[in-house]
Amino acid sequence: MSFFETRPWLKTVADDERLNKQIEETTTLALFDRAVESFPDRPAIKYYGYEPTWAELDRMVDAFAAYLVDQGFEPGDRLGVYLQNVPHYYVAVYGAWKAGGVVVPLNPMYRDELAHVFSDAGVKALVVSAAAYLDRVKPYAEGMPIVVTCNEKDYQRTDDERIFGMFADSYDTGKPDFATVVAEYDGKSVPDPVLTPDSVGIIGYTSGTSGRSKGAAVTHRGLSVNAQMLRDYQGFDETATIFTLAPVFHITGFVCQFLAAAACGAALSMNYRFDPAAALQTFRTDKPQYMAGPATAYMALLAHPDFTSDAFDSFTAIMSGGAPLPEAIVKKFEDRTGHYIGQGYGLTETTAQCVVVPRHLRAPVDPESGNLSCGLPLASVMLRILDENGQEVGPNEVGEICVRGPMVSLEYINNPEATAENIPDGELCTGDVGFMDPDGWVFIVDRKKDMINASGFKVWPREVEDVLYTHPAILEAAVVGVPDEYRGENVVAFISLQPGAEITEDEIVAFCREHLASYKAPRQINFIDALPKTASGKILRREMRKVGAEQAENG
Ligand code: AMP
Repeated sequence: MSFFETRPWLKTVADDERLNKQIEETTTLALFDRAVESFPDRPAIKYYGYEPTWAELDRMVDAFAAYLVDQGFEPGDRLGVYLQNVPHYYVAVYGAWKAGGVVVPLNPMYRDELAHVFSDAGVKALVVSAAAYLDRVKPYAEGMPIVVTCNEKDYQRTDDERIFGMFADSYDTGKPDFATVVAEYDGKSVPDPVLTPDSVGIIGYTSGTSGRSKGAAVTHRGLSVNAQMLRDYQGFDETATIFTLAPVFHITGFVCQFLAAAACGAALSMNYRFDPAAALQTFRTDKPQYMAGPATAYMALLAHPDFTSDAFDSFTAIMSGGAPLPEAIVKKFEDRTGHYIGQGYGLTETTAQCVVVPRHLRAPVDPESGNLSCGLPLASVMLRILDENGQEVGPNEVGEICVRGPMVSLEYINNPEATAENIPDGELCTGDVGFMDPDGWVFIVDRKKDMINASGFKVWPREVEDVLYTHPAILEAAVVGVPDEYRGENVVAFISLQPGAEITEDEIVAFCREHLASYKAPRQINFIDALPKTASGKILRREMRKVGAEQAENG
């Protein structure tokens, strides 16, 4: 008996014929190859006027795969991609897959985080921008066999360095000159890799429900299923243009934009990074039908002086994900543009979305809390709400959201303990707390996990505290999330200093930014004599959260 048959109250999704299209459990390369074969002359990318077709992109991908193989990159090897939203992203990712490799998307804000990721994932090759980031990654990439810059022109290579230009020219704006590697390897290809739906496609770094950053092994099955789900739930085909509102390095941007485009044969309209003025301009030139991003991006668009409703004329579906979406934003956006913002919920471990508001429906609001539902479970997802004893609860009862389905990660690499704890028997315990109403709509009310969600960027207090504790002036440190109207939550630190030590808030923030992605640095620091603790010495985070929330309320 299927999941839906045993839960007749969830039939809303299953019965909708639009959502019953055949979803293939395949590989991302199969989706890419189909786009190339079916739509060779349609644009695959739109990047500030540069519009390579699927056939042109395929040629660059083949050349890059041949280059990687020539450099000793083997099936199963890992390629780190440390880039913003640029056309090179496509070439790097599909090139690695064509060479049989695994992709490790990296947030270009990462700093010391890179040391752990490089060694944990065993990253063998890295694609990075010379102009923007090479100096930053070099200390961590010592001894890495293959480092590929996007723009060799900007980088003077010494003879003993194995750093090669993937492309010759500009990186952040305008038409990239793909000459260097592509010219040398043009027309070369590699044997088809042995990839199956079970092969790992990407390793996505996340802290899961607790502790240190872990690499979730995301399969080609999960990637291809969710890219197709997005296509079918939003009703897209090759005539669509998808805008990169969320960064491609994040799982939402990677699956719901980057891979979804290949699943349809649609064009991906890319902006280097989110900037409301550039986005509004791009909407007018590229005329996208779809975008997905956090609520803060919509707030920034609404607040921008260039905002006019005609910029949104081409859109047919607009989504939010990665963080809660306040109903007030949905209303304001709809009043000003006529477009409703749908929502998706998911994690790195669910290959982006596992719950979604289908395009033809509107999410209900919980009358008690005023929270919007984040959607209905995808047709292939089995979602259960479990109480503390692991028993499934009924409609409207609160518990932990647990998910089973083809998009759930197999494991955290090198971490059987975390896998056993969070993905027992293939069912992911998300650490998010919520309920399903009698129609199957999912509402998130809280979280079990120790995570701060700042505009969709996830911050784990432990990681920030570990950095703070390395500072000689700091005796004790605790980091908590405090509600914020714009970001959803802010990172706030409570710190006690070593006797006699003197340090300013700005110095501590600068120290954190030197070692961690800048969004992890505290936005506020409270200096206190000692952290509040229980009699047994356990730090009372709840108390600090309360103090932080009161401070925020009082401005
Ligand atoms: P990540 O692995 O970075 O995608 O983070 C996953 C986490 O983001 C989830 O466990 C949730 O806590 C949060 N999240 C994702 N989507 C939503 C949503 N629509 N509403 C509220 N929280 C969300």
